[in-house]
Amino acid sequence: MKLPGDARETDLHRDQWKVRPDWQSSTSSSPSSYSLPVGLFSLSSLPLYYPDVNMRRLIGATFLLFCCTPGWTSILNRVKRQDQGADATDFEKELCKNRLPGEWFRLVAATGDECRNVIQCTSSGLQAIRCPPGLYFDIEAQTCNWKDLVGNCNKKEQVKKAKPLLSTEEPICQDEYLACADSTCIPRKQFCDGTENCADGSDEASCDINNDPNRAPVCNTEICQIPECFCSPDGTAVPGNLEPKRIPQMVTVTFDDAINVANIDLYNEIFNGKRKNPNGCNIKATFFVSHKYSNYSAVQDMFNRGHEIASHSITHTDNETFWSHASIDDWAREMAGSRIIIEKFANITDNSVVGLRAPYLRVGGNNQFTMMEEQAFLYDSTVTAPLSNPPLWPYTLYFRMPHQCYGNLQNCPTRSHAVWEMVMNELDMREDPKFDESLPGCAMVDSCSNILNGDQFYNFLNYNFDRHYLTNRAPFGLYFHAAWLQNNLEYLDAFLYWMDEVSSNHEDVYFVTMTQAIQWIQNPRTTEEVRNFEPWKARCNAEPSGTVCGTPNACPLTTKELPGETLRLHTCMKCPQNYPWLLDPLGEGRFV
Ligand SMILES: [Zn+2]
Repeated sequence: MKLPGDARETDLHRDQWKVRPDWQSSTSSSPSSYSLPVGLFSLSSLPLYYPDVNMRRLIGATFLLFCCTPGWTSILNRVKRQDQGADATDFEKELCKNRLPGEWFRLVAATGDECRNVIQCTSSGLQAIRCPPGLYFDIEAQTCNWKDLVGNCNKKEQVKKAKPLLSTEEPICQDEYLACADSTCIPRKQFCDGTENCADGSDEASCDINNDPNRAPVCNTEICQIPECFCSPDGTAVPGNLEPKRIPQMVTVTFDDAINVANIDLYNEIFNGKRKNPNGCNIKATFFVSHKYSNYSAVQDMFNRGHEIASHSITHTDNETFWSHASIDDWAREMAGSRIIIEKFANITDNSVVGLRAPYLRVGGNNQFTMMEEQAFLYDSTVTAPLSNPPLWPYTLYFRMPHQCYGNLQNCPTRSHAVWEMVMNELDMREDPKFDESLPGCAMVDSCSNILNGDQFYNFLNYNFDRHYLTNRAPFGLYFHAAWLQNNLEYLDAFLYWMDEVSSNHEDVYFVTMTQAIQWIQNPRTTEEVRNFEPWKARCNAEPSGTVCGTPNACPLTTKELPGETLRLHTCMKCPQNYPWLLDPLGEGRFV
């Protein structure tokens, strides 16, 4: 059963809601049960309090559309009153004092429908969300739930968990031991390991990147050296300390979700064999492929044409909190399982499926990254860095992330991991940054909600490209879902026009895969040298499209893991017995 909590939206949904359309577009038989709580998205991404007039106009329109119950109005009025006074920031400061990051709370004890509304403090002001009709906000669980199950509408905030006594004047415990909130000493290792060891659970109460006592040390450039390790104190340094003007500008285009008839024509149009990098090879991209509804002869086709295929899970389950808290085993089943399926049914035999991206950009904390080490994944591309100038270079996670864990309720890795992070730099979505007031950034292009036409998108591409090209030349990531480009052909035209223009105007701009970007970071070359850089010449022009096999098999399959569903698996390989799924990725009927 779908949990009501799924419908809750946080500011993260600037990145997440774009994922929905491809559930719908990836297949005609895709699940239709998901209903898009449009009002929530709009509310959640807009602060209640804005100092700037344009935004206030925008926000006014939003509230007219979505937000008109009496309870809500009173909250609004209250915020507005404060807003008009000179002490608006004081009011906010007072309200936000001692709040946990991402904590949702109420301004007043709620009755009835008011219990749907909550707010939180963010760096850009107060943000509000409202649960869909029929649901109330459970302040303890910090999620929307069926209203009969929510018994804390009269509570304004979550009861705070006891914190461990990590820094006291006199140490309470012997070496390598730390104190729970009740002063009991337990081994340091047991803090933030996912299991409550203190009687009061305080060893798991404070485990973010700033508090985990077992967190990775800050970047040490003496120890961390390419090719195995790369970091810099603020994340912006150029690998090899090369001068930015002398190195190529990498552009990393990615597409998420199933590859199938719904989007293959789009990919053929973009990667038509005529668009070339300055070294004469076809431009390349990375596809984060989710399993359900993927057509593996199409996946094989994209791979044969030199693109990179990476893992985006088997189920792509829309229970987003699943990804934040999944166990190491769950992560392995989803991601290593997806790799097994891709390799088998798209016949990829060169061990090149080495990357992954979590669905809904939900980072899975240390469990995700421990799994990646155990399963020999090379890189993740899920962690988002807040909009910054200059942008960040990818980094290895041996040392601590060089930026804050961004987004409410995100579960970033805190410990040391032998994994590359192809960090998602937020894009600046202002059309004209010289004049427009600052807006929150966006990680996926399709979450840049103020792009409304082709011209705006073209300006946006140019401006964000320059933010990279004219500064430290960190790889310029453009992360898409196919549906966004398909649903508005103006965007596609603008994108193709921009690609062609940027290629013809620059001899140092390369569209590369994620792995190719890592290969360059491990072995930095100047623009001059890179023309003959072997890893970028590999599978240079590859085969033309449509030559993988004559007629792929369209195998109608079932699995007892998905009772009652018959799914078609398109593959150039032999049909398996069962539809491949979590416990049976090869479809052999042998459940592990
Ligand atoms: Zn996805």
